Amino acid sequence: MKKLAVSTACISCGLCTVTNEYLQEDSTGQAIPVPGKLISDNELATVKQLIDNCPVSAISFVEVQKPMSAKDFIAAATKKISAIATLPTPKQSDFPYNSSEFSVPYYGAAGQYRYEYSSESSANSAAEREFNEKAYSQLKPFALKLVMQYKSKYLAPYYVSGPTSIYEKKNAEIKSLLAEIAGEYESIFGQKLPASFVTFEVFPDTERNSMLDMLRKDTVFSDEIADLIASKHRSEYPISNYRSTWDTDYEDKYIGKGMFGDKYKTVYCYKNVEAANKELADDMLRVAGWADINEIALDKACVVVDQYNRNMKKAIEEKIAILKNL
Ligand code: SF4
Repeated sequence: MKKLAVSTACISCGLCTVTNEYLQEDSTGQAIPVPGKLISDNELATVKQLIDNCPVSAISFVEVQKPMSAKDFIAAATKKISAIATLPTPKQSDFPYNSSEFSVPYYGAAGQYRYEYSSESSANSAAEREFNEKAYSQLKPFALKLVMQYKSKYLAPYYVSGPTSIYEKKNAEIKSLLAEIAGEYESIFGQKLPASFVTFEVFPDTERNSMLDMLRKDTVFSDEIADLIASKHRSEYPISNYRSTWDTDYEDKYIGKGMFGDKYKTVYCYKNVEAANKELADDMLRVAGWADINEIALDKACVVVDQYNRNMKKAIEEKIAILKNL
């Protein structure tokens, strides 16, 4: 027995998909075999013509071993389904943390180089006030921005819907196998499997406050880790650590004529607060690694994947029951 295969050389010319029941177009216009459709002996010559007509030789025959009996077919189909019916448990290597992949915002310091302070110490105090206002008091919001970047880069496939969802990809793989099995069964034994056999929509638990629900609503992970990062940052890098980064400067400012000639007053400014803001941002990127952002992400991913696998096991048992009841 034979079926058709189409290679990636297909240029979507449409020649083969208009007039036969063995090939169809996928969503991108490429030719793909109709799942499980086997070629009957009296169609071989027509299908051979189809292969010969492909301008890029993308179509070929694939030999299919005919099962001895329906029982053999069902045993083989059950084995194939069971072989792919698990999502691998996430590993730590799926959740790396490399600080160069992320950024923490830092801002300029508008008060720098204003020669308006009467002493060096008042200029230093003003520098610290601006640093605190623009950076140090913002540790939690900055950490949240960093965590959201990490979440969207590494954790998103475990909770989003759409083509990047690991569940939807796995569901599509299983659906394609089920359609293949149903098509082959019909081609060989002339009997359609129930429509429910080829449907497959499985997800982790979705009820309110399930891990999936909380990841989607962001009521778990981001806030928890941002708090951890901010608190670790405060203990590893107290505000006093940044005092050596900014500096002061002074100039003699003309203030008018005095009894003995021109009068000047020494005034001070601060500088390099922007450099301190940048230093804080760089420190936070390091601290996020020490706060185990990646290990916490792995824990959450393991919870949803375990739930998916448990729900998938039930759904697969139902498919196998359909086959066994044929
Ligand atoms: S004839 Fe060949 S190139 Fe054209 S759609 Fe079919 S497989 Fe693709």
